[in-house]
Amino acid sequence: MRKLIAGNWKMNGTQEDLPDLDTLAKAHGDASVDVVICGPATLLGRMTTTGLTIGGQDCHPSTSGAHTGDISAPMIVDAGATYVITGHSERRTDHHEDDALVMAKTAAGWHAGLHVILCIGESEAQYRNGETLNVLRAQMDRSIPDGATPETTTIAYEPIWAIGTGLTPTPDEIAAVHAALRAYLEARFGAAGTAMRLLYGGSVKASNAGGIFLLPNVDGALVGGASLKAADFSPIITAL
Ligand code: 13P
Repeated sequence: MRKLIAGNWKMNGTQEDLPDLDTLAKAHGDASVDVVICGPATLLGRMTTTGLTIGGQDCHPSTSGAHTGDISAPMIVDAGATYVITGHSERRTDHHEDDALVMAKTAAGWHAGLHVILCIGESEAQYRNGETLNVLRAQMDRSIPDGATPETTTIAYEPIWAIGTGLTPTPDEIAAVHAALRAYLEARFGAAGTAMRLLYGGSVKASNAGGIFLLPNVDGALVGGASLKAADFSPIITAL
């Protein structure tokens, strides 16, 4: 499978950042790995002019209608993007999104033809209580729709306590979680589960990316803060 490095710009980025994104595109246009930038809705259309693969950060489960401030999966496609993130912990927290809604959004993304990066992850308290694997299995049971394939879906494991904190699980912990996620995906989806990409996310940066990418069942990364500048993101891409 082709590995994937996805940048999640979150609520960052204006037109001023587009020249730097061009620099990134020129450096990695023919990368041997897939590179995706999930930008703010306001920039999606213009980001596609860089030639990079572009994604949204969320989509509404409906295709259109009276949902002020929301963006639908067909609108993301219309802007020229081909990926979308669902289930990010910041959406789950800031907007009270539950697994059922994440499942509906994922299905909406598929229906529009988008490749969905579906995020799961445990809180710090759940991690400390040894509940990580149970939490992740429950999230996958309730948020991944039946029929997921490697062509439509990537799963991103993002421990909430590792996001933006500079903390990461140990390599052994990441490897153990990813092995358990792979076992779940294979039990539920068969061969499709073997081929589905599993990303790690949470404080990935140039200095730790190489070590994380060596771990079995880690097929790339979902990168937040270190994806905002080409100078920070490039060495992560080349580390894969
Ligand atoms: P950071 O890389 O800033 O920790 O963010 C990770 C993340 O939430 C990506 O979706």
